[in-house]
Amino acid sequence: MSDHPAIQVERLRYRYPDGREALRGLDFRIESGERVALVGPNGAGKSTLLLHLNGILPGEDRRSSLHSHTHTHTRTTEDERSTRGEPAIRIGGLAIVDRNLPEIRRRVGLLFQDPDDQLFCTSVIEDVAFGPLNLGVSRSEARRIAIECLERVSLAEHADRAPHHLSFGERKRACLAGILACRPAILVLDEPTANLDPRGRRRFMALIAELDATILIATHDLEMVLELCPRTILLDQGRVVADGPSPRLLSDQDLLEAHGLEIPYSLRSRL
Ligand code: ADP
Repeated sequence: MSDHPAIQVERLRYRYPDGREALRGLDFRIESGERVALVGPNGAGKSTLLLHLNGILPGEDRRSSLHSHTHTHTRTTEDERSTRGEPAIRIGGLAIVDRNLPEIRRRVGLLFQDPDDQLFCTSVIEDVAFGPLNLGVSRSEARRIAIECLERVSLAEHADRAPHHLSFGERKRACLAGILACRPAILVLDEPTANLDPRGRRRFMALIAELDATILIATHDLEMVLELCPRTILLDQGRVVADGPSPRLLSDQDLLEAHGLEIPYSLRSRL
């Protein structure tokens, strides 16, 4: 992947089946190893974009598409753009088209905002082992990887519990373990700290901070952005309206106000 940007998005457009235009021509690239925040008001198109990066067509059933690594999809975002004949998204140089989806999903780990969209097995360990098993790893090796990843997120002692019996924060960490188990080069996180209590939030941030993958985080948590992401992309109404160093972008009051955001508290006190 090294010669190519980790993520390259060119003139990406997406219209939901009901006609709503969610992405109106996005352009950006993220180099390997970067940590980038994706911010913007509700409805800006953040979640729609993140789903695309994992080859999921927004609007379709997320669980079935996420877990069908081996199935062939019949629709792609690229088909919808075929009139232009060039891919709008490349992951490490690889175009997001049906035939590349298994490899794309190997490279990109997507953490959904709602852990209940992600967890579906009867025990935590089965859930975490599912990814490696699906990638062709043996049962015993998948179990070993799952235990290792559960240890990383401090959930090893919960391995045999039912995912729906875990707390919200624990479910989020179980989802992260499931993603880490597939060793993705790129991590895409949708609102990772939303609905976590302060301790759960700090814990989750510490986990993200120690990962060495390329990371894209969609979030309203601008303090987290300042801590974890040197670069921020601001999205509004399906367009990139700003892209630059987080401290500069997040201290631009006029820019933030124009797009429904506020300067984070830690920067305000310095003004
Ligand atoms: P964000 O994640 O930034 O809040 P979304 O990507 O969820 O934004 O939404 C972008 C736009 O797409 C919004 O106008 C939203 O109403 C619309 N949208 C989201 N999901 C659907 C859907 N399943 N069907 C139709 N429109 C949708």
